[in-house]
Amino acid sequence: MNQRQTVLVVDDEKQNRTLLAELLKDDCRVALAGNGNQALDRAHELQPDLILLDVMMPDMNGYQVIQALKNDDTTRQIPVIFISALDSPADEERGLDLGAVDYITKPFHPSIVRKRVRNHLQSVHHRHLLENLAMIDSLTEIANRRRYDEALEHEWRRGARNGSPLSLAIIDVDHFKAYNDRLGHAEGDHVLRQIARALSAFVRRPGDLIARYGGEEFVLLLPETDAQAAAEIGEEIRASIENLHLAHPNSPVSNYITISLGGTTLIPNGGQVAPLFFQIADDALYAAKADGRNRAFWRQRTD
Ligand code: GH3
Ligand code: MG
Ligand code: MG
Repeated sequence: MNQRQTVLVVDDEKQNRTLLAELLKDDCRVALAGNGNQALDRAHELQPDLILLDVMMPDMNGYQVIQALKNDDTTRQIPVIFISALDSPADEERGLDLGAVDYITKPFHPSIVRKRVRNHLQSVHHRHLLENLAMIDSLTEIANRRRYDEALEHEWRRGARNGSPLSLAIIDVDHFKAYNDRLGHAEGDHVLRQIARALSAFVRRPGDLIARYGGEEFVLLLPETDAQAAAEIGEEIRASIENLHLAHPNSPVSNYITISLGGTTLIPNGGQVAPLFFQIADDALYAAKADGRNRAFWRQRTD
């Protein structure tokens, strides 16, 4: 079992918290909350893999807690198991209707709780693996376009909230058709993998993302990076690919594989990603190509 998974145990009785913590501590990290508000805070902060939730608690009961969790985008997906002394089928049905994945009645059998928690953690682990796999490009093993789309939405909202700049670069291999035509598709694939690896070195901060956008195009997302810093990174990227010295026998630009890069920076506003964002970077890329390729151009919105 994955040691790094976290289970949040919510119960107003200390004795129950201690018992459950003791029971689960070999299988996962255990975090504790003694009331509903604390549970919501901890769920936000820790993003646990699973929540064990008592129903009868003073102030905010378990039903209210699960509703608050399900109403919030950042906690909605966390599976919840009710542990409750309310043991009628109607109680159990109510708990499951509210979105709990399981319902355990008190007094519980420790070994059964432990096994059920293990099973649920196992499912969570598999779900995360699948979600991650679905977001990886199989050729280059970096993020794929889907992951980029998600990250862009997330970073856009974050930038809008904080009033911080967001930078985007689009990277396109120069004369790559000619490369494939001359050396074959397999060699071309090999080049794309090497480029992906070199680009990954520019992911330096949490939130930075490099992804394969499609074909021989890559995108780099740099949150909280202003135009000047991002343009410098763009130029470093251009140089780093040229300096890989991957022979391109068929390029009018250079003896080596080169890329053209177009980028832009803006401070997001509104909840939706502005289509203009990608468009400006793409225009810059087009200009870099038109100017002779092996160029990194940064463009600001002019209106
Ligand atoms: P430009 O400098 O204008 O970008 O020229 P280009 O030849 O790179 O551009 P074009 O869009 O005409 O061709 C892109 C080529 O990229 C076509 C295709 O052979 C190649 N390509 C796209 N995806 C892959 C891939 O997954 N593997 C390989 N080996 N080649 C790919
Ligand atoms: Mg292209
Ligand atoms: Mg190209």
